[in-house]
Amino acid sequence: RDNPYLERQAARESNARSYPRRLPLALSKGKGLYVQDTDGRSYIDCLACAGALALGHNHPVVVDAINRMLRDGLPFQTLDLTTPVKDRFVSTLFDCLPAAFAEGAKIQFCGPSGADAVEAAIKLVKIARGRRTVLAFHGAYHGMTHGTLGLTGHLAPKEAVSGLMADVHFLPFPYDYRCPFGVGGEKGVRLSSAYIERMLDDPNSGVVEPAAMILEVVQGEGGVIPAAVSWLQEIRRITAQRGIPLIIDEVQTGLGRTGRLFAFEHAGIVPDVVVLSKAVGGGLPLSVVVYRPEWDRWTAGAHAGTFRGNQLAMATGQATMEFIVAERIDEHAARMGERLFGLLRRIQAESRSIGDVRGRGLMLGVEIVDRDEPTDFPGCHPCAPGLASAIQHEALRRGLILELGGRHNSVVRFLPPLIVTAEQIDTIATIFADAVRAAEQ
Ligand code: PMP
Repeated sequence: RDNPYLERQAARESNARSYPRRLPLALSKGKGLYVQDTDGRSYIDCLACAGALALGHNHPVVVDAINRMLRDGLPFQTLDLTTPVKDRFVSTLFDCLPAAFAEGAKIQFCGPSGADAVEAAIKLVKIARGRRTVLAFHGAYHGMTHGTLGLTGHLAPKEAVSGLMADVHFLPFPYDYRCPFGVGGEKGVRLSSAYIERMLDDPNSGVVEPAAMILEVVQGEGGVIPAAVSWLQEIRRITAQRGIPLIIDEVQTGLGRTGRLFAFEHAGIVPDVVVLSKAVGGGLPLSVVVYRPEWDRWTAGAHAGTFRGNQLAMATGQATMEFIVAERIDEHAARMGERLFGLLRRIQAESRSIGDVRGRGLMLGVEIVDRDEPTDFPGCHPCAPGLASAIQHEALRRGLILELGGRHNSVVRFLPPLIVTAEQIDTIATIFADAVRAAEQ
């Protein structure tokens, strides 16, 4: 498309740019679920800044929070010095967290990105346990910094980078549709947890006495793969029995996305460490680690960083959390998610190329497969990234922004702002169905 902004971006920005390659958009306005490009075209945004815009674009509570800061002349950056804004942010966040976790918990402010907070969490537990190995999962995504890339359970983004954190042991994630044990459901869960226990108990496996385990309750970038509740409960039992701190990365799932305020609540488990970013800043850059007090064993000044004191993000984050709780946006997300899930299942029934529909709340994924090819695991067909990309393109042409994910970029991801209405859900599904039909032809 001829657009001077896109041309200049392609000429000047790093070759590492990612989203603009698949979504060639120069954006000029945003309101709620909608964005407008510089050519005046309007789109429904089902990416929502990779899930960061829980309340969509320019929600009044976020805009008001920013305006209040400006009007009252409050400081924007304060390192880790405290302020009334920060104090309210912490209280509101701790009130959102389940009491069994929040009671006595500690918080570390980390900087602008989710990766910053994952880095801090790993450092925290390594210091506390005096151990090196970290257990992570196949398909995991925890960020793209040098440290977090070592935890990525997917080779492509990291194979060109030498010297990553070496002491990471990858375990199978319960990916039902392509179950590593060849079976899904409860049997897959049992096999997966039995395998993990064996690895931990076998002195020759190399994973004895790890510093921690880190996981996403629903793998996002990895292809929207929700872990079964029973598997999460098993993981909590296994890690608790062995004194292994369990770090739950809620960067993408946190604050209502999955239909509960925190995704780990679906399993009723209490983590040791929770990593938060995206929605916690109300769309502005902020990340934190919240953890049980027994792991607070690092010394004064052990984790510094200039931009730990982003007051603007604390104000917008606090206003966003307050709104989510007051308006029961988590419950709304659960209802809207169920509606979209049902519609996507219906589209699957009429499509030749949808292998699986899955997710939790408003974090849904549709796995695009080649049904003409024989199954490569029992019950599932090979991934079809070319077709997934064609569907994304057809959706964009029809005014719907969708992103792809998964280890083979063959999963269409739905991450709309949590304030999406039932009518908008129906429109999203209708456009998606048209895009699938067009791409299949
Ligand atoms: N963890 C998870 C689960 C994520 O989804 C992401 C970002 N998509 C990150 C960590 C990294 O966050 P950031 O991009 O802000 O570094």
